[in-house]
Amino acid sequence: MARIPAVLFPTMYIKKQRLLTPGPTPLLPAALHAMMGSDIHHRTEDFRKLYKQILSDLKEVLNTSSDVLVLVASGSGGLEAATQNFFTSGDEVLVCSAGKFGERWVEIMKAWGMRATVLSAPYGEAVQPEAVEKALHENKNIKGVFVQASETSTGTEHDVKRMGEAVKKTGAIFVVDAITGIGTMPLDIDRWGLDVVVGGSQKAFMIPPGLAFVTISPKAWQLAESSKAPRFYFDLKKERKNALNGESAWTPNTALLLAFAEALKYIKNIGMDKLVANAQLLAQATREAMQALGLELFSSAPASSVTAVRPPAGMDSGVIIKEFRSHFNAIITNGQGSMKGQIFRLAHLGYFDFHDLFAIVAELEIILNANGCAVPYGKGVAAVQNAYAAVALPKPEPVAVS
Ligand SMILES: *Cc1c(COP(=O)(O)O)cnc(C)c1O
Repeated sequence: MARIPAVLFPTMYIKKQRLLTPGPTPLLPAALHAMMGSDIHHRTEDFRKLYKQILSDLKEVLNTSSDVLVLVASGSGGLEAATQNFFTSGDEVLVCSAGKFGERWVEIMKAWGMRATVLSAPYGEAVQPEAVEKALHENKNIKGVFVQASETSTGTEHDVKRMGEAVKKTGAIFVVDAITGIGTMPLDIDRWGLDVVVGGSQKAFMIPPGLAFVTISPKAWQLAESSKAPRFYFDLKKERKNALNGESAWTPNTALLLAFAEALKYIKNIGMDKLVANAQLLAQATREAMQALGLELFSSAPASSVTAVRPPAGMDSGVIIKEFRSHFNAIITNGQGSMKGQIFRLAHLGYFDFHDLFAIVAELEIILNANGCAVPYGKGVAAVQNAYAAVALPKPEPVAVS
């Protein structure tokens, strides 16, 4: 066999681009193809049929009796809509903040003139449900409680079930940014008292950024009656009225809606609980692989949406991110804000599978070795193989001794 000149190896010629971030996430091919059918008009029967299907499928996969509405916006637009439609400037609210997205809630409260009490946890930790309970007990004027189900910046999960139980007993509504929580953790919207839940298209829904959606409980609609915040584009009552006729209030993003319809069909087909189990398994295998490689996990309450990992002592995590890009054309994420350089984040939400994870961990081993951190090749990969075998392969029958 002809020898391949060694000089080729440092770069290789074919490197498929792989988007491995916790949003945007890898795209579902069927959804991507569906986007080409966007030469439709949004005030036609064809569109109304599509839109009604999307709203009913979304309600089904979220398993809720709450109203479900879709907005043309990034996830933050959904967060803003979830604020301005239910409250009035000067209202007292409670914000749980455990990372960059918790801080975004605080900024939104500031922008809308709300008086926010902030319960903050250090990066990598979760706000405890007891703290929410205590704060609600101490201040009966609180009208809303805000949290991230999954705090994407630190890879941390909040116990929204227990928080919901505490909020349920009060007059306040529970507003949950579940943008990376949906599809990665169980969320019983109705039973847990999650009054307003916000989701986004570019996370576990496997389609590009640009759609947000919001669920609204009867308790939240009740509060909306007294809300005096000004609104025009994000008017949920107007959206609800139009949605009943299978239309959106404004010209919608038809390409994304076509993609959304395909993704919802796919998720319905495998089942939302299976999509969650998929992320949970990948997250667990990732944690085991990182520990096998001697790397420290950043979060004390790790989420299944994304795993935040500390680089080896003395190494900037940016090195790992850059090496993934230059050697393997794979895009993974650094820490945000002051966590930049301190962590790298491996995503599991949506269209991720074990094939992806085997490659990511094998490549990470190469990158660590190339940057002065000697780890035995295959140690992390073996942890992923063991995690896979434990759930996907039949247990060997014990051999009978004669
Ligand atoms: C991605 C994300 C958002 C939304 O960000 P956009 O850039 O506005 O889509 C909000 N909260 C969390 C927890 C997220 O992961």
